[in-house]
Amino acid sequence: MKSLLVSVTSLLLIVSAQAELKPSAETVLSRFLRYVKIDTQSKDDQPSVPSTAKQLEFALRLAAELKELGAQNVRVSEFGIVYSLVPGNLPENSQVPVIGFIAHMDTSPEVSGANVNPIVHRNYQGADIVLPADPTQVITVAKNPILKTMIDDDIITADGTTLLGSDDKAGCAAIMTLVDLFKQNPQIRRGTIAVAFTPDEEVGAGIEKFDIQGFGARFAYTVDGEALGEISNETWSARTATVTFKGKNTHPGTAKGIMINSIPAAADFISRFPKDMLPETTEGRIGFLHPYAGTLEVEQSSLKVLLRDFEPSGLDTKEALLRDMVKTTEQKYSDVKISIAVKDQYKNMKEVLKDYSQLIDYAMEAARRAGLTPTIKAIRGGTDGARLTFEGLPCPDIFTGGHNFHGKLEFNSRRGLEKTTETLMNLVQIFAEKAK
Ligand SMILES: [Zn+2]
Repeated sequence: MKSLLVSVTSLLLIVSAQAELKPSAETVLSRFLRYVKIDTQSKDDQPSVPSTAKQLEFALRLAAELKELGAQNVRVSEFGIVYSLVPGNLPENSQVPVIGFIAHMDTSPEVSGANVNPIVHRNYQGADIVLPADPTQVITVAKNPILKTMIDDDIITADGTTLLGSDDKAGCAAIMTLVDLFKQNPQIRRGTIAVAFTPDEEVGAGIEKFDIQGFGARFAYTVDGEALGEISNETWSARTATVTFKGKNTHPGTAKGIMINSIPAAADFISRFPKDMLPETTEGRIGFLHPYAGTLEVEQSSLKVLLRDFEPSGLDTKEALLRDMVKTTEQKYSDVKISIAVKDQYKNMKEVLKDYSQLIDYAMEAARRAGLTPTIKAIRGGTDGARLTFEGLPCPDIFTGGHNFHGKLEFNSRRGLEKTTETLMNLVQIFAEKAK
């Protein structure tokens, strides 16, 4: 009974804060539940974009939905990217920039995204959540302390056999519901917004095909983050290194004095990685070296290493360390020829976004107006937005309310989806206010 009172009270608060707003024709939760049932899993190492045809089907559905909601210039590119514009209602001489919102349609190849059966755990009361189709899959409070903040919320999970696909159907549903809210509420003062849904984010392929010019936004936000309130203006700066060990093979029966085995040199090199500089021993703002793949053969062995840091100087230090490790191993195994090749992958988007601090300030204000406590989180990874940022479309990332991406324990909640949508709505209005 108490919980009922609490939820009624919070509902009243929401209603009074948004008293002038008519609800969307479809709730963000209903949209989300529809979208996650559509399999849009992408696939690694495919020659074409999108990597899977099923993503294109979802793209066409989203495009149709945008048209129904009154969006203009709705089109699906040959690469399955959905673009559209939702015209604003400000005077023509207003200086409001076109703001873009971007979400990705695909789900991770790591866990099945077929036949997702979303389950809404109504009025959550704080227990561990056992997923019904595979009771060994349990979302525990111990490992997910965020659950303690979600009492009385409706939590959405998969059934234990698939991922949920909140990453990033939550972003798709929030953006679409924003367009829906604009249609129902023409009185809201707002500039034009650009909407895009992209394929193949999870396999790092779709964004290369993104037409920034055609999109038409001056600034954009990816809606692809995690916990409510988390806004990101930083990604890793990233390099990869390939270390090659060259030996000489011969028949092992007659190898004495002839064979040069590259494998022990590779093993020696691998043993030299500092234990406190690995993905499994670092978090927060601390970068790492990650030996993640390789081959071992007498004639030639090789090792691939990821270098990650938020600061370019930190990345330089890590590269210098790898080169030192090469020298040390070379001294010990002087017959083996060792070479190292280092490539730049992507850069921390903060290098550009620091000149557009209003994008973060406005997003934080938008989250505050939705009753959230915004925080800035550095992403221990790359984003599509980072790439767009360096290509001329500054693009931070906004939360979606989702957790445990890319796994069977993924979850979001009704409030997560609603607050994400509300934040986007606030953000559009803040841009309109600031341009007065
Ligand atoms: Zn994502």
